[in-house]
Amino acid sequence: MLPIVELKNIAHAYVTDRGASLAIDYLSLFIEPGEFVSLVGPSGCGKTTLLSIVAGLLTPSQGEVLLLGEKVSGPTPQVGYMLQQDYLFPWRTIYENSLIGLELTSQVTDRTKESTLHLLNEMGLGAAIDLYPHHLSGGMRQRVALVRTLATDPEVLLLDEPFSALDYQTKLQLEDLIVKTLKDRHKTALLVTHDLSEAIAMSDRVIVLGASPGHIRKTFEIPQNIRDSQPFYAREQEGFNELFREVWSELEASERKE
Ligand code: ADP
Ligand code: MG
Repeated sequence: MLPIVELKNIAHAYVTDRGASLAIDYLSLFIEPGEFVSLVGPSGCGKTTLLSIVAGLLTPSQGEVLLLGEKVSGPTPQVGYMLQQDYLFPWRTIYENSLIGLELTSQVTDRTKESTLHLLNEMGLGAAIDLYPHHLSGGMRQRVALVRTLATDPEVLLLDEPFSALDYQTKLQLEDLIVKTLKDRHKTALLVTHDLSEAIAMSDRVIVLGASPGHIRKTFEIPQNIRDSQPFYAREQEGFNELFREVWSELEASERKE
């Protein structure tokens, strides 16, 4: 199958007044359409840098990113980016916040407005559309951020620790909602998380990165029984704990190397 995202020998150095530092070292990766891939690794190993490169926000020093076979040379509506902070505009209602991506890409039409309202309803935000962000809980705000990201109908979603500011229960609910929403729409996702059980429960594949500079240490294919279960129940599946320990020890080894 043609990969939807292909990273070819990506290297990236940041240049500052104190010199240049290599953040990513010749990293290559294929992601298939509809796949859910997670990146885990020690702080500073280049996860955010990698997502920014895939998003077209940062040009790598070496190598290239292909999106459906075409070289990425800047941000494109085919890629949506969701961050830990929701960055909702406080002066706009929930509905108006949801339309921002569509406005920025000149795609506001009756049809896209209707599909955004539909998404808001699907995310359980139907009663909140005329409220302002400060009226909402953290979990609701992240759901608005998800609607805003999905409203432009991107093929690929980049998620940079989107649950890390949420309480545990809200986070579990949002994991289920995101996996279901993306699988139903056959979207592709690249998630960065600190939480190994979240990575295993949500993904088809978990990639452990090592630091200094960032590189792939090991890739774990998630067994079918875990993939087939919603993240909440995936944690109870046979083999989950063993896999957790394997990924954990790989991550520990990568942190020891620092
Ligand atoms: P992660 O998301 O895995 O924590 P980052 O991609 O944010 O890692 O950072 C990777 C490395 O690049 C770190 O050593 C970080 O200090 C450095 N870095 C990140 N952004 C910049 C920047 N804008 N300028 C200089 N160095 C940076
Ligand atoms: Mg980061």
